[in-house]
Amino acid sequence: MAIEMLGAEVAKAMKERIISRGDRLKQEGIIPCLTIIRIGERPDDLSYERGAKKRMELTGIECRVKELPEDISQEEFEGEFRKVNADETVHGILLFRPLPAHLDEKPVRKMINPYKDVDCMSDVNLAKVFAGDQSGFAPCTAEAVMEMLEHYGIDVCGKKVTVVGRSMVVGRPLAMLMLQKNATVTVCHTRTAELAETCRNADILVAAAGRAKMITSDMIGEGAIVADVGINADAEGKMCGDVDYEGALEKASFISPVPRGVGSVTTSVLALHVIKAAEYLAHLE
Ligand code: NDP
Repeated sequence: MAIEMLGAEVAKAMKERIISRGDRLKQEGIIPCLTIIRIGERPDDLSYERGAKKRMELTGIECRVKELPEDISQEEFEGEFRKVNADETVHGILLFRPLPAHLDEKPVRKMINPYKDVDCMSDVNLAKVFAGDQSGFAPCTAEAVMEMLEHYGIDVCGKKVTVVGRSMVVGRPLAMLMLQKNATVTVCHTRTAELAETCRNADILVAAAGRAKMITSDMIGEGAIVADVGINADAEGKMCGDVDYEGALEKASFISPVPRGVGSVTTSVLALHVIKAAEYLAHLE
């Protein structure tokens, strides 16, 4: 029977680290501040926003929300983004994506101050992740998986890691973070020929495909560590991950549930990034 890796446990441990670094900033007269830019009212965005606001409050970080109308023009959107980017009291910027179809995110990805880019939307930060340069910001979810494994004492060095999913927000950057820690990484996607076997061979399996319960117990090696990043709805409309949890629980040695798993660590990583951004911008780092 696997040990459950619970996001709340990881977040609790991270909270102390975040608060003590935040206190140091406050002694210098700096209040770390995150601004969330939300366009429209997508339920997913509103739900993440609630979680992020709560986490910032718990860790002593100011959180502002810039709410923009769904039908905002590209020019107005860029103008609003520019204002937040130039505001010296703002240390971290989180833009909810995907944007409405009529908007192009490329200009703001180029515009954002890389030191404020706390969820890795700029090419500068992505390049740093791929170059193994830790001075930037990795996408929060990818880093949340690493925080979770570390919290549970799992050293990825020398382990066979399979990541299912190759998106630029989760799968690929996560593969790079694993590589940085000397794991041997395989990245799977929809064209992977031997998916089940590749998953089964892994010491650590990370599911980030966005397909409800696609990882069945026969795809998990005996005693493997399983991190589930997926957020999906099952046939009854209940939230579930990419892993068929009940079966996996019997096979794995460690497993993260959905909900209450990786998703609950993401906002803590975001908070840590805001602190790091404030330190950089104040030249305290
Ligand atoms: P994307 O849809 O951008 O990428 C999904 C990836 O999974 C693609 O690379 C795709 O392959 C691969 N994939 C899809 N189906 C299969 C399959 N049947 N077999 C093998 N590979 C497959 O999703 P994201 O990366 O943005 O998100 C992944 C999941 O993580 C989602 O459930 C999302 O909700 C969740 N998520 C959770 C967050 C959190 O805070 N916990 C934050 C962000 C995302 P291909 O490239 O070939 O199409």
